Amino acid sequence: MNGKQQIGWGLIGASTIAREFMVDAIRAQAGHEVVAVMSSSAERARQFAAENRIAAAFDSLEALLADPAVQVVYVSTTNELHRAQVLAAARAGKHVLCEKPLALSVSDALDMVRACDAAGVVLATNHHLRNAATHRKLRELVRAGAIGRPLFARVFHAVYLPPHLQGWRLDKPAAGGGVILDITVHDIDTLRFILDAEPVEAVGMSQAAAMAKQGLEDGAMSVVRFDNGVLAQLHDAFTVRHAGTGIEIHGESGSLIGRDVMTQRPIGEIVLRREGGEERIALQHEGLYERGVASFGVAIGGGGEPAATGRDGVRSLAAAIAVAEACRSGSAVRIPDLPL
Ligand code: NDP
Repeated sequence: MNGKQQIGWGLIGASTIAREFMVDAIRAQAGHEVVAVMSSSAERARQFAAENRIAAAFDSLEALLADPAVQVVYVSTTNELHRAQVLAAARAGKHVLCEKPLALSVSDALDMVRACDAAGVVLATNHHLRNAATHRKLRELVRAGAIGRPLFARVFHAVYLPPHLQGWRLDKPAAGGGVILDITVHDIDTLRFILDAEPVEAVGMSQAAAMAKQGLEDGAMSVVRFDNGVLAQLHDAFTVRHAGTGIEIHGESGSLIGRDVMTQRPIGEIVLRREGGEERIALQHEGLYERGVASFGVAIGGGGEPAATGRDGVRSLAAAIAVAEACRSGSAVRIPDLPL
């Protein structure tokens, strides 16, 4: 793609995440513009377009994909719709940035990766936490041996689902609701990134304490074993107002403590604790979504991989599905070695 040309984005889904973060993140890139939006409701599409100064509004996927101004798409509909929309975008030759979880099953997510490969388009997953200065620094420090061999990780991601998001996540199993597909999947992706390791087995328990209905969970605690031996403890919830978020990586010779790091915003801090004392690590915060879109822009220009690839999306989903299955069954669940 010619760097001087405008890269036109089509939004598939008039969603909250698009409105609150992604439209701005796309426009923050030189040469990128949001040129179209598609909703299942013509009225919602028109309203979203007007509020966000987007030229074209569609109520059909085919119409958006046929718009010659659209070269890439961002898919942020509810989760059950991602697969068919990504397959259609790939058929139309559009690069795709798709929201997590990529799909509701591993086989659907694999179909998405294969379709994009076959069409020669880039598929990226919007696992934004990889782009945080905090998590990038944690990865760098672990790789540099700052804590010796990593043994354990703990993720604190029990938060309060804000009222304007208290919809399908809580009462629509068919849309991929529940805290595990919403939040645990992010924890797993972040740990895969920091540890450079793959999850192999999961156990867990979940609860429906206050908000979730229809068999969905609004809280979960799980333990995931990685192929480098690390045991990771994950605490995720929609129901907890005051816990704060964090991540800890504990190694043979030191511990990395991250606070306020499981978030959409460029905030948080990291402390390295080892013999001789405690050191606060310097960080240069940057917008997480902006950085993710920037890496996607480089990837569609042939310059490398996006921050989280389609394959990352599949692997992180497979582990989240294993956690969900472990919570349902009460048994340990193996995470399959995927044909990727
Ligand atoms: P929303 O509920 O805001 O949007 C999802 C869909 O709901 C939209 O595509 C829209 O359908 C429909 N919708 C929106 N408003 C209304 C309304 N007033 N009445 C009826 N339907 C409506 O979801 P989110 O933005 O929270 O999540 C969307 C996707 O993004 C999910 O896959 C989620 O997992 C992911 N996500 C990722 C985050 C990240 O940090 N990576 C953060 C938040 C979400 P239509 O398009 O047809 O109008």
